Amino acid sequence: MAGPRGTVIVVGAGIAGLSAAWALQRRGFEVAVFEQGPIPNPRATSYDEHRITRHAYGAQEGYAYLMPDAFAMYDRMFDDIGADHFDRSKVIYFLREEVGWYEPSARALTRMGSGFRDIPLTEVRERFPMVETRGLTRAVETDEGGMLFPIRILTDLTVTLGNRGVRFHVDSRVAEVDPDAGLVVAGGREFRADHVVIAAGAWVNKLTPLLAQTVVPSRQAVMYLAPPPELAQRWAQAPVLIDMGLDSGTYTLPPRRGTRLKIGDHVFTRAGDADGDRIATEADLARLESAARLAYRDFDRYQVLERKICFYTVTRDDSERFVVRPWGKRAWIVSACSGHGFKLGPLIGDGVAAAIAGERSAEETTRWAAGLFDLTGHAAPTASEPAA
Ligand SMILES: Cc1cc2nc3c(=O)[nH]c(=O)nc-3n(C[C@H](O)[C@H](O)[C@H](O)COP(=O)(O)OP(=O)(O)OC[C@H]3O[C@@H](n4cnc5c(N)ncnc54)[C@H](O)[C@@H]3O)c2cc1C
Repeated sequence: MAGPRGTVIVVGAGIAGLSAAWALQRRGFEVAVFEQGPIPNPRATSYDEHRITRHAYGAQEGYAYLMPDAFAMYDRMFDDIGADHFDRSKVIYFLREEVGWYEPSARALTRMGSGFRDIPLTEVRERFPMVETRGLTRAVETDEGGMLFPIRILTDLTVTLGNRGVRFHVDSRVAEVDPDAGLVVAGGREFRADHVVIAAGAWVNKLTPLLAQTVVPSRQAVMYLAPPPELAQRWAQAPVLIDMGLDSGTYTLPPRRGTRLKIGDHVFTRAGDADGDRIATEADLARLESAARLAYRDFDRYQVLERKICFYTVTRDDSERFVVRPWGKRAWIVSACSGHGFKLGPLIGDGVAAAIAGERSAEETTRWAAGLFDLTGHAAPTASEPAA
């Protein structure tokens, strides 16, 4: 029997799809989730040990103003699933070149009242003995941020949704979508709903031609490491570290709550197919390894535990804006993928549910999810939701 608000098919059980399902189910929709693999799916972009969340956003300033709502939505999700999969920590930025990050970040953090300060370069060696201090021009400590634990979040969210009657179709690859009819084809069978939400991550271009000129899959390498023993304790207590040199640029998540030390970079390959393998080759790792040697002292003494590939979609331009838009009469496309889609997943999912429920317009939702709104305001417009 349909939920009081109607029926929705969600394609994809990553953070975007599950968050949309969560927000829709709360609003009284009957929700079915189609996933081409298991749930959660180890091949999904969302599936990893940890993800960074933070307020500073550099030139993508619009997204900084979404972050207070994004943190609040995660708090709400953690209350709901009964587990807090967030490790609060400072986030430290090491600048080695002028990359246009400081000014917009400082402006946004000041406007949001989120604390930050310079760390005198003379203190860096003592506080962060693992960091290469040669070439540092500035070190900035920001107060609000930390790590989310995606595998645990996806798992608990799935259990919660299942308990509330959300229907899961695993190993069900959607081959076709009719956005006007609200119809999807999976396993040779047709399924219909009042609305369809396509949250297919790096596979989105295989399901709709609409974003082909805008987003492209990007094959990205990460490494999981064991640090040299004498640094193990320092790493265990380290905050999230982000190196902002052009050649050295890396992000590093310390080992916490049973996760491994992980290092990656933010240089998009804009190449590859999400159906491809997940094992990083020497060629995949070349840039990351040389960047890591510039960012960290004695990097060659770190033991490699895993060399992994992960795919996300990125915009063909450098904007990294999310593409969230209606398609036909009954479908929504949620490409909130990119290198920053996890921290905003629940908020964007809620925004899409709000649009489907008629709480706000499609145009406003698309602009909001793209981080486009009046920067003279203090915060992004929040989806107002009726009491459950
Ligand atoms: C190395 C790396 C580091 C990152 N670091 C961060 C970070 O620190 N902070 C942050 O906020 N973000 C980060 N991100 C980005 C973030 O992980 C992604 O933006 C986010 O997880 C995308 O979620 P999604 O639900 O859109 O996609 P996915 O998690 O990939 O989910 C899409 C799902 O759809 C399924 N699917 C696809 N096509 C079909 C079909 N036809 N039928 C059925 N099912 C289908 C897939 O199997 C998959 O399970 C990082 C990404 C990578 C790769």
